[in-house]
Amino acid sequence: MKTSTNLSRLSPYLFADIDKKRAALEARGVDVISLGIGDPDRPTPAHIVDAMAEAIRNPVNHQYPAYEGSRRYREAVATYMSRRFDVDLDPDTQALALIGSKEGIANLHVALVDPGDVVLVPAIGYPVYATGALLRGATTREMAMNAENGWLADFESVPDDVAARAKIMFLGYPNNPTGAVATDEYFRRAIDFCRTHDIVLAHDNAYCDLTYDGYVAPSILSYPGAEEVAIEFFSLSKPYNMTGWRIGFAVGNPDIVAALGTVKNNIDSGQFTAVQDAAAVALTGPQTCVADQCAIYARRRDLVVDALRAIGLDAQAPQATIYVWTKVPEEMTSAQFAEHVLERAHVIVTPGSGYGASGEGYIRISLTTPDERLLEAVERIRTTLG
Ligand SMILES: *Cc1c(COP(=O)(O)O)cnc(C)c1O
Repeated sequence: MKTSTNLSRLSPYLFADIDKKRAALEARGVDVISLGIGDPDRPTPAHIVDAMAEAIRNPVNHQYPAYEGSRRYREAVATYMSRRFDVDLDPDTQALALIGSKEGIANLHVALVDPGDVVLVPAIGYPVYATGALLRGATTREMAMNAENGWLADFESVPDDVAARAKIMFLGYPNNPTGAVATDEYFRRAIDFCRTHDIVLAHDNAYCDLTYDGYVAPSILSYPGAEEVAIEFFSLSKPYNMTGWRIGFAVGNPDIVAALGTVKNNIDSGQFTAVQDAAAVALTGPQTCVADQCAIYARRRDLVVDALRAIGLDAQAPQATIYVWTKVPEEMTSAQFAEHVLERAHVIVTPGSGYGASGEGYIRISLTTPDERLLEAVERIRTTLG
């Protein structure tokens, strides 16, 4: 069997190698603590599970779903966008249900990108921005990201001739993996840049509701001109502890949303309507569960940052996301450090280089592990240093 040329362009999945080593250790009976993947450890809030239990008994939900999402779910999306961001959108033309936002991000490439096109991706970022382009036979152009520019992808460094060939620019703030948040001014400049060069601005807003210390994350659609060029991806996975349910949505410019909808209409047949019913309850019901979850992550963040500093690592407390992005000791690369702590401390951390070469020198620690285990992990790491 020979895979497609495009498939063979992908590098191994970021977590595949780590998973293999972990499995080998666990087979030997070793207790491994994973601070790797960002997968909430706490259950989905009870009122959402209850809504699902009811919805699953409704025979109407047993038939094919509407591929674009149920009317009820798309209205819940519009209600959420209005309440949360004061953004008014038409649920019929500007909202699309997704089987998780990862699916929507991957399929946006199918909708908009031809072989040979350019897709602008952050130099450090969620891998699907780039892999979606590679699977289309397109090329990616990295936008520089570093501590000096506050991890804000530098689209202005993209030369005009490259920008002219670019179809999509991906951004995502609050940012996975760096935890960075963007300024109003940055979002405004990004919209201007995409309007000037006729590029679709795809904003991944998976962490907008997981913010701390009073920071409130915006929607890109709340800035003037965004409705002309932008599509924004939201996920229920992280704020509502629903990663296993596979539900998200895309909102924004009607033509872009329609193009993505056409792809989905031809590839999948929509998410189980019962899941959409439960997700509608999540979006429009009480949000205390999200506030409680933020309090938990903020506390864990402080525990981890303090513990990392105590062992001499230069950790900064992020204002959002479920990750602490921290520098590794000078004498090691990200991958060496990750391997070192897995072998010596039996702790999994994600090497920053897995998110792009510019992530070299950093690791990402996920806060989706109970406090005692997080602290034990940091203590174990301490014993392996110096
Ligand atoms: C988790 C994550 C997603 C995907 O979420 P799903 O809705 O579960 O597919 C998208 N973007 C970023 C940056 C994420 O961290």
